[in-house]
Amino acid sequence: MTPVNQTSRAPQRLPVSSHRRFVFKKSLVALVPIVLAGLVLSIASVLLAGRVAEKFVLYVRMAQLYTREPDRQISMPLAHVSRKQIANTWHAPRGNRRHEGQDIFAPRGTPVLSATEGYILRIGENNLGGQTVSVIGAGGRTYYYAHLDSYAPHIAVGNHVTRETVLGYVGTTGNAAGTPPHLHFGVYTSGGAMNPLPLLADRFHSEKKKNDNNAKPPSKKKKRNPARASLA
Ligand SMILES: [Zn+2]
Repeated sequence: MTPVNQTSRAPQRLPVSSHRRFVFKKSLVALVPIVLAGLVLSIASVLLAGRVAEKFVLYVRMAQLYTREPDRQISMPLAHVSRKQIANTWHAPRGNRRHEGQDIFAPRGTPVLSATEGYILRIGENNLGGQTVSVIGAGGRTYYYAHLDSYAPHIAVGNHVTRETVLGYVGTTGNAAGTPPHLHFGVYTSGGAMNPLPLLADRFHSEKKKNDNNAKPPSKKKKRNPARASLA
């Protein structure tokens, strides 16, 4: 039987004070990555929480929009174009599909204004639409602006927009390449695309419109007892 191997010399021991210093240094070295990792984690979680909070706020705002009545009238996205100037191409055949919107022609670079109040839902490029912006408005309707030459420099997803907000500029991106510059304007509901033309209202007031407004009798609010009304 061989005896258990034992070192002939006892391990060298550090003096107590230097041993403590060594332990302290060692624990400091071990702490640095932990502290750093903690810092990185907390910064990341603050940033993440910020983004989650932003998303949450957007969803809440969108949910509020769904509870509102959809706009009965929306503003012409191009300030100086009249509704009469739009050739109605709703559902016109386009190859194996139908045109789900209206084309509004204007010189390249003409500012495209939001037709409604709402929030920017998407900013992005696709094959047909080229550079596009989608805005969600009252009733959860989505307004789609396509073939943009460029986006307005300040816009971002989640931004609140009014009828005065510039979203981008008229162009020929997507399948509009080679055609005269125009805005493709689409309106979508949960049930699918709808014709934007009947909703559109000119931004400038013509004499005719003023006269029409004057011709209307002042609206009276009826305060009639339904029971009496049935007797009348
Ligand atoms: Zn179009």
